[in-house]
Amino acid sequence: MTSTSSSGGPSLPQVRRLVTDIPGPLSVKHLERKKSFVADGVGTALPVFVTAAGGGVIVDVDGNSLIDLGSGIAVTSVGNAAPAVVRNVHAQVDAFTHTCFMVTPYEGYVDVCEALARLTPGEHAKKSALFNSGAEAVENAVKIARVATGKDAVAVFDHAYHGRTNLTMAMTSKNMPYKHGFGPFAGEVYRAPMSYPLRDGLSGPEAAARAIDVLDKQVGATNLACVVIEPVLGEGGFVVPASGFLPALREWCTANDVLLVADEIQTGFCRTGAWFACDDEGVVPDLVTSAKGMAGGLPLAAVTGRAELMDAVHAGGLGGTYGGNPIACAAALGAIEEMEGNDLAARAREIEALVRRRLEALAAEHPVVAEVRGRGAMMAMELCAPGTTTPDPARAAAASAYCHAHGVVTLTCGTWGNVFRFLPPLTISDELLEEAFDVVAEAFAATA
Ligand SMILES: *Cc1c(COP(=O)(O)O)cnc(C)c1O
Repeated sequence: MTSTSSSGGPSLPQVRRLVTDIPGPLSVKHLERKKSFVADGVGTALPVFVTAAGGGVIVDVDGNSLIDLGSGIAVTSVGNAAPAVVRNVHAQVDAFTHTCFMVTPYEGYVDVCEALARLTPGEHAKKSALFNSGAEAVENAVKIARVATGKDAVAVFDHAYHGRTNLTMAMTSKNMPYKHGFGPFAGEVYRAPMSYPLRDGLSGPEAAARAIDVLDKQVGATNLACVVIEPVLGEGGFVVPASGFLPALREWCTANDVLLVADEIQTGFCRTGAWFACDDEGVVPDLVTSAKGMAGGLPLAAVTGRAELMDAVHAGGLGGTYGGNPIACAAALGAIEEMEGNDLAARAREIEALVRRRLEALAAEHPVVAEVRGRGAMMAMELCAPGTTTPDPARAAAASAYCHAHGVVTLTCGTWGNVFRFLPPLTISDELLEEAFDVVAEAFAATA
């Protein structure tokens, strides 16, 4: 069955409305077909089949309208079917759909790279290359860092998530489900301890000294091409490193001819209340990877970096058939227009204030909440046995399932699966957010 209510976007009624069980009978029918034809390895968190989405809601085939606290994993920051994205995509589809930038180029690709030079941290000359997915961007950042430095080793951190391709699986920390059985993995990837204030109690400079000791003693700066870090951990649990951690790493990298690569695939494009999370401490990375929020839901990713580093790669060394597809570029330009025109970075900070107030209230009432943390519209609670740091993934799963059954799309994350995370579209209304967190509060009461 095809979509019946094809008109999504911000004009969709902004309500939570359940007219069937979740999933409803039509979704269950589609789910049966999914089981027959889609590989079991491709999971779904909340199996309602979508017909329309926009603002802060997702509408399913059964006519249920759910509040979206996931944004398709931090992708639809400008809202689903955002007007400028839809307009640009329609115009581009009418004109042409693909030529391959490496065969016959088009302006949209260059426009996106020009915007990235302007929006990413730092005032230096920058260039970009465009790809299809975040993992592909991370792979290419490593390729560029290796050529530019003439060194091989790559440092990553505990709890890191960088993707599911072979090199990025090696860089990702968590075994199940991302790596299990998929090895052997790429070599020359080394892991250092991340700043994790709840669990290590270290200040930023102390945590950085601990990480740098590993890099110095176990890898050696003369072997190390780059340090790749998420400035706020994404899949690893929305851990915000203690302040001073990133600046100390930046300083060490500069002093040792090691490139600092910020993986801003989840944090970038206004999600954390700034254009990039590195902006928060004034850290300027050498290379930045972007994807998720940058193109309003179309597949697009980028590596942006110092011009001389980006240009170290031989002609033809970077690319791919679809990288920087013209429709995805048009969508990105629309998404950037929405972010700038509506000051969505400021909106992310407002969302943080509202969500933090609601989560702190929950934490005061439920000792299972070990920590409320996050930045901007990227907030989470880590759940542990009361008074300890022993993870409680069962409670996170139960609370999330309650939310799903009551019409709120929520996600969990973290190395132990015990982090309840919230990634609303930046276009969601305060009213819907308050209603969604009423449901989250009920979920904690009901699962106590
Ligand atoms: C999602 C994500 C990736 C991988 O992006 P894909 O588009 O799924 O390949 C890499 N790094 C971070 C920080 C992410 O959140």
